[in-house]
Amino acid sequence: MTGRFVASIVALPRQEGASVPWEDTVAAPEGFGFDVIGIPEGADLDVRLVLTSVSEGVFVSGSVGADLVGQCSRCLKDLRQPMRQEVSELVFYPERREALVAEGDVEVAESPVVVDMGIDLEPILRDAVVLALPFAPLCRQDCPGLCSECGLALETLPADHSHGPAHDPRFDVLSRLEAQLREQEK
Ligand SMILES: [Zn+2]
Ligand SMILES: [Zn+2]
Repeated sequence: MTGRFVASIVALPRQEGASVPWEDTVAAPEGFGFDVIGIPEGADLDVRLVLTSVSEGVFVSGSVGADLVGQCSRCLKDLRQPMRQEVSELVFYPERREALVAEGDVEVAESPVVVDMGIDLEPILRDAVVLALPFAPLCRQDCPGLCSECGLALETLPADHSHGPAHDPRFDVLSRLEAQLREQEK
């Protein structure tokens, strides 16, 4: 297994508790986010990890940081905000995962494994980043959003911005009918 996101554990002693750092600034692959918010492909991903030997495999811990780029969900303004998310994932030795699955531990069946003395960090980092994405990104916590009448950003409009009382043509018919009934009552 090779690639920009593959951490080799050749230099990591298998003795429990031994650790090696894995720190790098790498170009974000595609798929680190969604249309509304995410890390653009090729943007800097600041990865600071420590790989620690544990009995079942290698514990990957640390954090990943990047600038999120997207759109405010209220006013649709472009936004850019820094994020840093904790990473914590146990990567199993294949034989250990197999043994656990055989013992009935179904949850570990999907867990990552060490392949050819390497750990593919890409899916681990992607999961961490996607978890950190805001469900409804905002340019600022109290973003007033858009005017429901004209669709302009309220932030750019004067505080007394209004379109007068809402006019619904259906009420014209009702008031004409009411006037007619009043006439007949006379
Ligand atoms: Zn906004
Ligand atoms: Zn308006």
